[in-house]
Order: sequence, then C-alpha cells, then structure tokens
Amino acid sequence: MGSPLVLLDVDGVLNPFERPHRGYRRHRCSPNGVTYKLWLNSRHGRMLLDLAQSAGAELAWASFWCDHANTWIAPKVGLPQLPFVPIPSFPGLGEGTTLGAWKVRHVVSWVERRPFVWFEDEPDVVECLANESGLADHLLVSVDPQIGLTEEHIERAGQWLAELSA
Ligand SMILES: [Mg+2]
Repeated sequence: MGSPLVLLDVDGVLNPFERPHRGYRRHRCSPNGVTYKLWLNSRHGRMLLDLAQSAGAELAWASFWCDHANTWIAPKVGLPQLPFVPIPSFPGLGEGTTLGAWKVRHVVSWVERRPFVWFEDEPDVVECLANESGLADHLLVSVDPQIGLTEEHIERAGQWLAELSA
C-alpha cells in the first residue's frame, strides 16, 4: 500500500486569490519568464511538515506548477524540495476534457495504490475524483480559494490520517 501522500495544490490553496490576513506576503514568481503575483504564507511549510511527520506521510505537489513549485514556492513557504505529479499543460476544453478531469487523471496514475489526502480548490476536481474507482483510501479537502489553506484543513487531514493508520 505504501505510506500515505499529502498532495498540495498551489493556486487557491497555498496562494489564495485575496490576502486573507497579515500572515501572507506578496511574491513575484516568474516560471518560464512569465511573472505571477502570489500571496504566500511562510507558516504553511511548518504546518504541512508537522502534519506529514506526525502521520508518517509524504508531501508532494499536485499542481500545474509541477517542478516550478520547488523553485518558486517551496523556499517562500518553508518547504523542502518535494516530489511532484507531472501534469502536462491543460490542452483546453476543445479536447473533450475538463481541467479537473485532466488533473485528476494525472494525479490518479501517479499515486498508484497509495492512500492520499489532497488539498485542492477546484470544484471540478472534487467531482471528477468522486467518479474514480479503484483508488486507495483518500480524502479530498476542499479549500476556499479566497481564503486558502487554514489550520482547520490541516486538522481535518491529520484526523483522517490518524484514523487511517489506526
Ligand atoms: Mg488550484
């Protein structure tokens, strides 16, 4: 079965769409030469590392940022370099898939049979994941993209992981 994974989205999760409180600072990130302005919270890394350590779980990126998250996001939130789900750029709605379905397809094939918690803000992902069969135990923690990841989300994940190992 393997140790559980804790999957992290970036936009809408670590980078809320608006600044929720003063713990967030503005950062400019320029993967591929395109500059994005992000709100990031330097406390998130500690919260996530504590969660993973207490549960014997492994953190990984599940974001279209892919490996760019290791360069541009990890140092600013206090995370080490993490493994990442390789998610190709979304081909567009014309290709007969939705953004959520595309992301779920790549995440599902990468996690294989490991249990996972996934912090995600995209409603389409929630719906598509619910339609997947053959997955190991998993918990999708829906995050409000206006607010981003909170202590409550971490607590919910921690409880679920504790029950999983019990
Ligand atoms: Mg997102």
